[in-house]
Amino acid sequence: MTKTFACTCEDVTLDEVRRAFALGHRDLESVKRYTGFGTGPCQGKSCLARVVGELLRLGATPGEVQPFTARAPVQPVAFGELAALDPATLPLDEGIPVAPAPLEHPPRAGDRPALPARADVVIVGGGIMGLALAAELATRGRTDVLVLEGAYLNAGASGRNGGGVRAQWATPTMIRLARRSLELCARFAVDMGVNVWFRRGGYLFLAPTPEQVARIERNAALQRREGLRTRVLGPAEALEVVPELDPSRFRAASHNPDDAVVFPWPFLWGYAGKAEALGAKVRTFTRVTGFETAGRRVAAVTTDRGRVACETVVVAAGAWSKQVAALAGVALPNRPTRHEILVTEPLKPWLDPLVSVLGTGLYFSQSQRGELVGGMGDPEEPEGVIQGSTLRFLARFARAATETVPALAGVKVVRQWAGCYDVTPDNNPILGPAGFENFHQLSGFVGHGFMMAPAVAELYADWLTGRGKHDIFDRFGLGRFDGGAPPREDFIIG
Ligand SMILES: Cc1cc2nc3c(=O)[nH]c(=O)nc-3n(C[C@H](O)[C@H](O)[C@H](O)COP(=O)(O)OP(=O)(O)OC[C@H]3O[C@@H](n4cnc5c(N)ncnc54)[C@H](O)[C@@H]3O)c2cc1C
Repeated sequence: MTKTFACTCEDVTLDEVRRAFALGHRDLESVKRYTGFGTGPCQGKSCLARVVGELLRLGATPGEVQPFTARAPVQPVAFGELAALDPATLPLDEGIPVAPAPLEHPPRAGDRPALPARADVVIVGGGIMGLALAAELATRGRTDVLVLEGAYLNAGASGRNGGGVRAQWATPTMIRLARRSLELCARFAVDMGVNVWFRRGGYLFLAPTPEQVARIERNAALQRREGLRTRVLGPAEALEVVPELDPSRFRAASHNPDDAVVFPWPFLWGYAGKAEALGAKVRTFTRVTGFETAGRRVAAVTTDRGRVACETVVVAAGAWSKQVAALAGVALPNRPTRHEILVTEPLKPWLDPLVSVLGTGLYFSQSQRGELVGGMGDPEEPEGVIQGSTLRFLARFARAATETVPALAGVKVVRQWAGCYDVTPDNNPILGPAGFENFHQLSGFVGHGFMMAPAVAELYADWLTGRGKHDIFDRFGLGRFDGGAPPREDFIIG
């Protein structure tokens, strides 16, 4: 054991890099996500060369150590300076290098485990949905499961999100699913043996308009009937929860102290590890390129590494689900839409809940390491799998954040990134078979798929192993759009 640091911003040692490599994380992106190196203020400037050198020494190929895209800001910048910029003058798609989509990452060479010729269940997409389902299927004894991931684990939205897990929803179904996920998240570290930085600091929704106040009052009443501890607070009471808020910016707030935030990356390692320990297979850098069909069934999945015959396919490809389903000729109404997010320098602990402002979609929370993590949707975003970062987002977020908490003006942003929401016309997921009787969908989770995955994966695995079918699989089938647009789910953030 040595204590030589590879990354001093994040305290990652060379031994941790070696351990990651020994566990099969050979490429730079996977090692970054497994160890956290390169995610601090210097964004890899001081550690990238050292980690690349170590991986090459250990046997990685040049294709596996291609440097990741540096994101703005080049150096930490205060919210106050960013808030002085006019977002209306800043473009959505210029000025800052656009990161390559995960699927454009060069496939790694070397001794990757072979694909099986056949698998009972093939899951397309190794995000939290696909991996949680694989783990839950394997737990129920269905172990002939193959997860095909086109890039590295955590490449999609599951590795790019804000880690918010809340039970404050507007329908009994969503409240119950989220409450179950909260239970599973709270014991994930014990069940899976991996720290997920679960912190139950609550969620505080700020309502700036009379309409938003009526909305949180209606929802809070429902949530209390469902057994949550949600309370509607006036501005003075909200200041008892977060004293730094500007009380002139909202009329009331909805607070559930039992909501939480987590660090997303280890969830994927936990689920993948559990699935594989029970006999399932997870194959990264294996892109699904098509499906072979026979009558009303999908008979095989084709990939850039070969063909796999199967009984059942589950498409859990997040924002790519529409294009994956289209490979079988199935049209999904999903609209992938970029969602940007940022992290600040670490601050001493001051913020318990995740704060979200209804209407603007602004949200931010404080991680256990002290950084603020926050995002905000942009109504001007076009449809598309776009994952580049913009100065426009930094300016919009900085304005909204400093209006909500003026003291944030001096806090510095150290890094920004982006992922995609997988938006459906009614903000609810698409579940169950579509187009073919064994071609299952597990997509369309907008900006709340991370918090829904643990509970939904349990229910999906129950259904696929004959343990009963929850009514979400009838209500959220693709067929619901045949008769026009169903009502939209409320309380979507971002
Ligand atoms: C910035 C941001 C903030 C968010 N904040 C929150 C939050 O606070 N709380 C919350 O609950 N949710 C949040 N979300 C939403 C949440 O992250 C997603 O709903 C969830 O991660 C979706 O998981 P998934 O497994 O369906 O998709 P993904 O994690 O995107 O995984 C899909 C995978 O499929 C792979 N793939 C694609 N095409 C192919 C192919 N042809 N072959 C093989 N593999 C393929 C991709 O590489 C990818 O890894 C946020 C999202 C973003 C972008």
